[in-house]
Amino acid sequence: METLDTYKAILGEIGKLRSAKSLLAWDQQTHMPGAGSAARADALGKLSRLGFELATSDELGQCIEELEARDDLSDEEAASVRDVGRQYRRQKAIPPDLFEAFTIAQSKGQAAWAEARAKADFAHFRPNLEKLVDFARQFAEYYGYEDTPYDALLEPFEPGMTSRRLRKIIEPLKAELVPFLERIAAEGTPPDADVLVGSFPVNMQREMSRRTLEIIGYDYGSGALDDAPHPFTTEIAHGDVRITNRYEEDDPVSGLFGALHEGGHALYGQGMGENLYKLSLSDGASFGIHESQSRLIENQIGRSRPFWRFFQPIIGEFLPQLAGVDAEALYRAVNVVSPSLIRVEADEVTYNFHIMLRFELESALINGETAVADLPALWNDAMQRYLGVSPNDDADGVLQDVHWSMGAFGYFPSYMLGNLYAAQVATALRADRPNLDAEIEAGDFEPLVSWLREKVHQFGGVHRAEDLIRRITGEGLNAKHFIDYVVGKFSDIYRL
Ligand code: ZN
Repeated sequence: METLDTYKAILGEIGKLRSAKSLLAWDQQTHMPGAGSAARADALGKLSRLGFELATSDELGQCIEELEARDDLSDEEAASVRDVGRQYRRQKAIPPDLFEAFTIAQSKGQAAWAEARAKADFAHFRPNLEKLVDFARQFAEYYGYEDTPYDALLEPFEPGMTSRRLRKIIEPLKAELVPFLERIAAEGTPPDADVLVGSFPVNMQREMSRRTLEIIGYDYGSGALDDAPHPFTTEIAHGDVRITNRYEEDDPVSGLFGALHEGGHALYGQGMGENLYKLSLSDGASFGIHESQSRLIENQIGRSRPFWRFFQPIIGEFLPQLAGVDAEALYRAVNVVSPSLIRVEADEVTYNFHIMLRFELESALINGETAVADLPALWNDAMQRYLGVSPNDDADGVLQDVHWSMGAFGYFPSYMLGNLYAAQVATALRADRPNLDAEIEAGDFEPLVSWLREKVHQFGGVHRAEDLIRRITGEGLNAKHFIDYVVGKFSDIYRL
């Protein structure tokens, strides 16, 4: 068989295993009875091993080497070989025994973290975290890096991104937004958040989310909406991109914004052609670019004034207590700025501070500049510096996120980059579509989604994040767009 055909056949096999794995994992979070968890873990483990064997096979390695030397590949094929080759080399770089020891440390780490978090006792998690940091440091050495070990861990989430570059991006953000947050607190007129206080039936919220997803263009013919403890989107296969969401009885909008966020991810997945799935390019340009698609729909659109002018009668239809609240009051109430302890509850002004803090701490850990034992004190100190608040205990502080307990270091910056990419893409979108606000206010999301399809979705992972942003906006990542967006929007809301 011709090398390219062999290569595609191997990716096809890996893709089928991955699809089965995603479906089992989705079911685990949505419908699986609790007593099925041990058998499910076994089945998932088996599929992972089979996938790993294929993804690190000598046959695939030979295909990659031969295809890398060729210049007759299409753009999609070349991008596929670039990314699959990169993953292949990373997986081959780690000795199998070390990787197996790591997976054991991961599952022990998650169990210890869950217990430590429940008891607000960092000491219980500390020895596990020390081991996971040690693994990550060893992996970084095997992967290789130019500047700092941490850069080797950023790579799979944001190919091409470095700590040095991140620091440069963070500098102006911090310089502009820390004083802006202080100004909001000192001089701002806060919105009246009490208009959203009440009890709102979960089944009505679920139906509202279902309808909202339909309105923004999510296709139920190739998707599904289910409940899960933590919202996520999963691309099971081409033609099967599912969303999960959760609802809070005492909060009428957290489920709605969860649906809009996941809807943004899902539109990306539904906007990619079958070819991208077959070539293993369906994860998108980077984690940050994926997050930009969710943030754009959730915040740039969902937390905008035109959206609430459109949505006011709809929320009133599903949640009749809110029928009498006008669009402007709803718009203001969903944009309250308040420095909080918890990242996932943060507003648009303060969210990135939570990421800066995590980046500061995890890069110091991986680069050997900080000891795990010092984390809680450093965390609380950084919370004061960025947000002016400190947690009462470690459950609301250093123990709040699951990522480190899985040994996932280098993931957090993608959340911040998602916000920055979203603002930059939205600037280009508004320049291309001067009537966007009127379209949103009329409930016409088709032009918006078509634009995203044409500029972002259809390419999947063909272009690297930086190249994609350059193609769309004519410049590399620039935090200025986010700063302008946030300062403009919240100066108006807080009447500064
Ligand atoms: Zn997301």
